[in-house]
Amino acid sequence: MRRIAVLGATGSIGTSALDVIARHPQRFAASVLSAHTQVDALLTLCERFRPALAIIADPALLPRLEQGLRARGLNTDAAAGPLALEQAAGSELCDTVVAAIVGAAGLRSTLAAAEAGKRLLLANKESIVVAGALLMDAVRRGGAELIPVDSEHSALFQCLPQPAVGTGFGPGLRRLLLTASGGPFRGRRRDELSRITPDQACAHPNWSMGRKISVDSATLMNKGLEVIEAHWLFGAPAERIEVVVHPQSIVHSLVEYLDGSMLAQLGPPDMRTAIACALAWPQRVEAGVSSLDLIRLGRLDFEPPDTDAFPCLRLAFEAMRAGPEATTCLNAANEIAVSGFLQGRLGFLGIPALIERCLHRFAGDRSDGLEALLDLDRRVRDHAEAQLA
Ligand code: NAD
Ligand code: MG
Repeated sequence: MRRIAVLGATGSIGTSALDVIARHPQRFAASVLSAHTQVDALLTLCERFRPALAIIADPALLPRLEQGLRARGLNTDAAAGPLALEQAAGSELCDTVVAAIVGAAGLRSTLAAAEAGKRLLLANKESIVVAGALLMDAVRRGGAELIPVDSEHSALFQCLPQPAVGTGFGPGLRRLLLTASGGPFRGRRRDELSRITPDQACAHPNWSMGRKISVDSATLMNKGLEVIEAHWLFGAPAERIEVVVHPQSIVHSLVEYLDGSMLAQLGPPDMRTAIACALAWPQRVEAGVSSLDLIRLGRLDFEPPDTDAFPCLRLAFEAMRAGPEATTCLNAANEIAVSGFLQGRLGFLGIPALIERCLHRFAGDRSDGLEALLDLDRRVRDHAEAQLA
C-alpha cells in the first residue's frame, strides 16, 4: 500500500491525483492532505479519504479546520503553516509525496520530501526552477525517487532510458523536444495582445488547470519554466532542448537519439495519465482516461514558437544560460507579474516587460545555498511589487 501525501489537494493537480488514488483503494491511500485557505473543500476531502493528517497552510484557519474535523467525527489530526507542510512531507506518515502546491511556496516541502527519500511526484515546477541544483542534490542525498508529473516531463521520462532522472544527458541522446500547445493566443501578433483579460488568458484550449499556470501557458512562460525543469531533471544543456508548438496537445514531448530515432509519448490531454504513471511506476494502472481515437483526430500539427509575440520563452532560455540566480529571479518576477495581471494591475504585455526589468536588475547577483536564494526571491518580489504599485 502506497501512503500518499497530496500537498495542494484542493487544486487541479491535487484533484486529479485524488481521482486516481480513489480508483485503487487496495494500492493507494491518501494519508496527508493540504490546502492553502479552502477549509471547507479540505474537510470534504477528509470525509472522503480519511487521511491521518490535514494541513491548512494559513495558520489563522487552524481552529476552523479542527472544529470541522471534530464536527464530522473524524480522527484526522490537524496542523497549519509552512513548517507543518515541510515536516509532513518528510515524515513517516507517507512514503510518497505529490508536490502539487503552486509557486515557490511549494519549495520547502518538496525539498523535505527529497531529503527524506520519498517517491516525489513533482508537479510544482516552480520549485525546480527556483532551486534546481539544490533539489537534485537533495534527491541524491536522500535517495528519493523523483518522477515528474508535468505532462511533457512525464513523456520524456517515459521515452528516456531508465533511470532517467538525475543521471545526466546520456551519450546516445541528441535532443529533447518539448511540445507546447501555444496557449489560447497562438497565431496572434504582439500588437493584438495588449487588451487580453484574465478570463481570456485562463481559457486554455486543451487543458483545464489552475489560474497561475493557465496564464503561464498563455504567455509561454510555462514552456520556459518547463525547459529549465527538463534541464535539471534530465541533465540536458540548453542547446539540446527545443520547443515545438503542437496545437492538439496529443504528443506530450519527444526524445531524439543519435541514430535518428525519435520516441514520443501520446495521449489525451488529461493529467491523470502522468499522475497514474508516476504513482504506479514501473507498473501501469487504470487512470480513468479514455482511449485516443486516432482516426477522429486525423492529424497532428507542428510549428515553431513565436518568441516575438511571446518573449517569456526567450527570457527563460536567457535566464537558464545565465545561471541559477537568474532562474530564481525569473520565477519570482513571473509570480508577481502573473498575480498582478490576474488582479487587473498589469496588462498582458506588462508580464514579460516586468520580468525583463527584474532580470536586468538582479540576475547578476550571486547567491549560494537555499537561504541566499530565498533571500534573492524575496528581494525580487519586493522590487516587482514596487513596480506594480
Ligand atoms: P491550483 O491553483 O489549481 O492548486 C494549487 C494548490 O496549492 C491548491 O490546493 C492550493 O490550496 C495550494 N496552495 C496555493 N498557494 C499555496 C501556499 N502559499 N501554500 C500552500 N498551499 C498553497 O494549481 P494547479 O493547476 O493544480 O498547479 C499546481 C502545480 O502543478 C503548479 O506548480 C503547476 O505549474 C503544476 N502543474 C499543473 C498542471 C495542471 O494541469 N494543472 C500541469 C502541470 C504542472
Ligand atoms: Mg506541462
